[in-house]
Amino acid sequence: MSYCQNKTTSCAACCGIYNLSFRKEELLHWIKQNTESFLQTDISKKENIVRFRELGEKKIQNQKISQEIYVCPFVGFVAKGKIGCLLHPTGSPHPQISLYAHPQNFSFYGEAICQGYNCFSKEKEAYGKEASFLQNMETYVYGQLAGNYRLAQCFQEIAEQENISLSFVIELFILFMQKVKKTLHYSSFELSLSKQEKQNPYFIVGAMLDKFQKPEERVEITEEAKKIGMQFRKEVAIAKASQKKVI
Ligand code: SF4
Ligand code: SF4
Repeated sequence: MSYCQNKTTSCAACCGIYNLSFRKEELLHWIKQNTESFLQTDISKKENIVRFRELGEKKIQNQKISQEIYVCPFVGFVAKGKIGCLLHPTGSPHPQISLYAHPQNFSFYGEAICQGYNCFSKEKEAYGKEASFLQNMETYVYGQLAGNYRLAQCFQEIAEQENISLSFVIELFILFMQKVKKTLHYSSFELSLSKQEKQNPYFIVGAMLDKFQKPEERVEITEEAKKIGMQFRKEVAIAKASQKKVI
């Protein structure tokens, strides 16, 4: 399985999409709008692509959580339910994309970075053989998990600590997010690892679900984050006990 693009789902976390203060529906709407607007753009004129980028960047300027993390306006739907790069030389749905040998060079990062970059999670194959389990998830959630190395580490630690499988922890985590109506506010890109390294994995999970703190500061594990983490721990314990009963 490819971490970035696989059969049914995909990730674009490193293009900055989770650095927007959008709810899930708003984020998907923004991605849809990018796609429609880009497909309607006559890209045979280079200035139209440049203008698309400038307008796109401006539009989300005030929605960025951290000003230090770039959000690329060329993120769009490249296939049904799959998010990806509207400038990708072979993956873009734009019919005129083949006019350019290196269309990603119109972007902020440029082709070498866009195509050469591997997040830590992908590089370290953070989910190991359990990665295929993630394929069945909807793209929004998949993208939040796939590139989030610190979260993957927490899941691993919890799985070991509780003596349960990694896929079971991930499954419980997704159910937990739905139950408490929370969404992930950080990816490894924003979370300061140094301060969190020796923390209880449940607290870090809680911190990722707690509301975003000031982006300029290092993320603190608040009392609320601990509370959320402990709630998740309780869910894991309940699920583990009922699993034993079934066995
Ligand atoms: S964050 Fe990682 S897994 Fe996601 S698209 Fe980027 S490199 Fe791929
Ligand atoms: S141009 Fe680069 S940063 Fe922008 S969407 Fe494409 S791959 Fe992501």
